[in-house]
Amino acid sequence: MNTHVDPFDVLVVGSGLAGLTTALELANGGRRVALITKRSADTGATAWAQGGIAAVLGANDDFAQHEADTHQAGGGLCDAHATRLTVERAPQAIRWLQAQGVAFSQEGQALHLTREGGHSQRRIVHAADFTGRAVQEALLQRAREHSAIEWFEHHMLVDLITSQRLGAPGPNRCLGAYVLNEATDTVQVFAARATVLATGGAGKVYLYTTNPDTATGDGVAAAWRAGCRVANMEFVQFHPTCLFHPHAKSFLISEAVRGEGGVLRLPESAGGTRFMPAHDARAELAPRDVVARAIDFEMKRHGVDCVYLDITHQSATFLQHHFPTIRARCAELGIDIAQQPIPVVPAAHYSCGGVMVNHQAATDVAGLYAVGETAYTGLHGANRLASNSLLECVVYAQLAAAHIAQLEPEASASLPAWDDSRVTDADEQVVIAHNWEELRRFMWDYVGIVRTNKRLERAAHRIALLHQEIQEFYASFHVTRDLLELRNLVQVADLIVQSAQQRHESRGLHFSLDYPQAAANPQPSVLRPA
Ligand SMILES: Cc1cc2nc3c(=O)[nH]c(=O)nc-3n(C[C@H](O)[C@H](O)[C@H](O)COP(=O)(O)OP(=O)(O)OC[C@H]3O[C@@H](n4cnc5c(N)ncnc54)[C@H](O)[C@@H]3O)c2cc1C
Repeated sequence: MNTHVDPFDVLVVGSGLAGLTTALELANGGRRVALITKRSADTGATAWAQGGIAAVLGANDDFAQHEADTHQAGGGLCDAHATRLTVERAPQAIRWLQAQGVAFSQEGQALHLTREGGHSQRRIVHAADFTGRAVQEALLQRAREHSAIEWFEHHMLVDLITSQRLGAPGPNRCLGAYVLNEATDTVQVFAARATVLATGGAGKVYLYTTNPDTATGDGVAAAWRAGCRVANMEFVQFHPTCLFHPHAKSFLISEAVRGEGGVLRLPESAGGTRFMPAHDARAELAPRDVVARAIDFEMKRHGVDCVYLDITHQSATFLQHHFPTIRARCAELGIDIAQQPIPVVPAAHYSCGGVMVNHQAATDVAGLYAVGETAYTGLHGANRLASNSLLECVVYAQLAAAHIAQLEPEASASLPAWDDSRVTDADEQVVIAHNWEELRRFMWDYVGIVRTNKRLERAAHRIALLHQEIQEFYASFHVTRDLLELRNLVQVADLIVQSAQQRHESRGLHFSLDYPQAAANPQPSVLRPA
């Protein structure tokens, strides 16, 4: 069977905001784009974003204030150029999204702007409380209609094909990718002049996450294997309050619940007392990382599975008006939030680090780009400012597209077919499920919100064992999506632990009991493949 797909100008991996923006910009410029995505096209973090997108559009606002807020949140580690570039391009990014058909909430003739934690001004453009869905749907419709974009749903990136891997002389170049077609269960060869990784985050490396199932760090792992540097992987943002229930995977309880007077309590079995005032003078209104750390501390101290967010002092009418989605979701699970406290845990929410790119979103490997949550541009430093991530997706996707559009066309290289000598199916699928479970649990326990040298060492030891086991599986058996995702998660876990071990200080989202102080001269933690 011929597994070679006809060559494309550009291969875009991922159909979230970053991938769709790149694909549309290139297709509008006349390039032939293949868009591969591992599930259906609307699956990813973008559609889940509730809050909005930051941009300087208000009368009292200016770029300097948005930049200053970004630096403040980033704990002194934001790249100055990336920050300025992103902030200055934000208004134009919003106009571009509107031109694609995104209907943001209006106030009269102007866009309605809200304010979020860490922002000194009202500058959050939004579509009610379903901004991500509005953006995803509008761009998806555009991209589906575009004749220059060919869609490959249920196609998963396995690995990048580079000149170095093929033993060719000269600087390393990306020539395309091996892609698992889940419908035919075959690995296909995609050749392209440029390849863009837009595979989103890696929240699934932790037991609790707000991320969708697609967030398995595939782009970071593939780029690392292809020879790219990665940076700042230790900075994982944890959202303090994710609903804790066996049937509620990844459901966020908005910070606005605490804003409206919700208090955090221990479970009844541990006394039921309110604990935040003992941790911070701002109590429940302290910043995200402070609240997440306090919850983690109390859960570990009392050996409990969750804590409770109590908003029962508000009336049912008030809660219905302010939190209809949260009320409905909890009610489905038998929790009446007007009568009962909500069980919550902190959960991995956003990866600030990723594949290192320059200001054209180009990686260390020629012809390979990374955009969106997969990339490290330097914008987020040690902690992400709310609503800067969707913005970064658009800005860097546009920069990548502009750079790729200038590349000279080339005849595509002839690439070898996937080595299919692994003919047997894995006899023990249970091993994959077990390893996946084990990884996510020890990452949560040892590499979560509060870290120590000892815990990181323990995690590194277990990762090494898993790595070996997964490699044996990978080398011997037919590849499946579960196996590939686990292989990537183990790789990403390793990178997070290595980065955390490099950082001998506490800063932003990285908190170590062994190094509780911030260092004088902070640097990004950059890892290079051997
Ligand atoms: C609950 C929630 C709320 C949020 N709220 C906000 C907010 O209000 N404002 C804000 O700025 N940010 C917010 N964020 C963060 C923001 O949504 C994400 O950072 C952003 O959407 C990432 O976009 P992306 O295009 O990089 O990735 P995604 O939207 O996650 O898309 C990744 C795509 O890659 C595909 N993919 C992954 N691996 C492979 C592979 N191996 N092969 C093929 N395809 C693959 C996936 O299927 C998916 O299509 C929120 C995140 C979450 C989880």
